[in-house]
Amino acid sequence: MSEIDVRRPTIATIDLDALAFNFRSVRDFVGSGTKYMAVVKADAYGHGAVVCSRRLEAEGVDWFGVALPEEGVELRDAGIKKPILCLGGFWPGQEELIFTHRITPAISSFEQAESLNRFAAARNAVIDIHVKIDTGMGRIGVRFDEAAAFAVKLLEMPNLRLEALMTHFAAADDLSENEFTDGQISRFAAAAAAFREKGFRPDLVDLANSPGAIAHPSSLGDMVRLGGVLYGLGGDVLPAGIAKPELQAVLSLSSEISHLKSVPAGETVGYGRSFRTTRDSVIATVPIGYADGYPRTLSNKGRVIINGSYAPIVGRISMDWIIVDVTDDPGARISSKVVLIGVDGKCAILAEDLAAQTATISYEITCGIKRRVARRVTGKQ
Ligand SMILES: *Cc1c(COP(=O)(O)O)cnc(C)c1O
Repeated sequence: MSEIDVRRPTIATIDLDALAFNFRSVRDFVGSGTKYMAVVKADAYGHGAVVCSRRLEAEGVDWFGVALPEEGVELRDAGIKKPILCLGGFWPGQEELIFTHRITPAISSFEQAESLNRFAAARNAVIDIHVKIDTGMGRIGVRFDEAAAFAVKLLEMPNLRLEALMTHFAAADDLSENEFTDGQISRFAAAAAAFREKGFRPDLVDLANSPGAIAHPSSLGDMVRLGGVLYGLGGDVLPAGIAKPELQAVLSLSSEISHLKSVPAGETVGYGRSFRTTRDSVIATVPIGYADGYPRTLSNKGRVIINGSYAPIVGRISMDWIIVDVTDDPGARISSKVVLIGVDGKCAILAEDLAAQTATISYEITCGIKRRVARRVTGKQ
């Protein structure tokens, strides 16, 4: 971002020590019998893929997971050495890109496998692949009941090496779906057996995402693929009421009061005149809006922390500003710090809280914080 944008005091702070804490905490909880993939797709869920991956590589993560080949290229360009799995495979014409950057694709279809095999054969190369088995998500992946047929076809692709078989849970975060999750685990075991029967000996079989790893010990396999818990987002994507590792929020979001004014009782503020003062009020304006990823549905609903106390958002959230009622805070001044996500004194606002108020999950909140919000990184890089 240019200098001018960075002067705006609206900042997402990424605490790399909290990230490392979460990784160690999860590893202590889950155990050292499995490898660890850090899923850093979508710019590490909005936390910054390069800074997060560098720290996690130093902490001993075994693999990285991205969604697009381009995200893997970004990590390679930043010097990440550990293996990178592209969970979304690749798109036609990206064979060269993934090959030269040593990005391993998760293969979901015969066509994808065939085109990569052709590419590899033309270079006399053997390319490692992971094959994704769809055991119930119904999205990408080779259907579990077509696994044996797929294995037969793969036998005729000598320029691909099956390094891993994987699947992905649809509802591991929901204990009322345990039977379905257990069904996914057994469908996957049967699919893996079908590949072994054809002579394949994958180095890894892996199933678990964050809720799988924490709530379903029978799904650990050879590797767990963790996103949410590394970023401390356990509050809404892990089932309630089970034992969990301690986690710390990695991202906080703050700004400062830019404008302060007295507004008499009975006036309205903001677009649509949706809030009317019921008393003589002190109204603060803060430079963050929905264009920064702060959800507009928090209009007249959200709150922030100023001077260690909550203050309500009043009126509509606009593209670049929110309006806060600070009448009850005699300490509010221009440049007073405003915490939108984070902790100040006894008050805390989690990404999970914003998610609950806006009918989504914490991942969408952190992924949604836009590039124009300056990033500050704290902790050992
Ligand atoms: C995103 C993703 C993960 C990580 O999920 P979390 O819930 O964030 O741990 C794991 N595996 C696959 C295939 C994914 O797409």
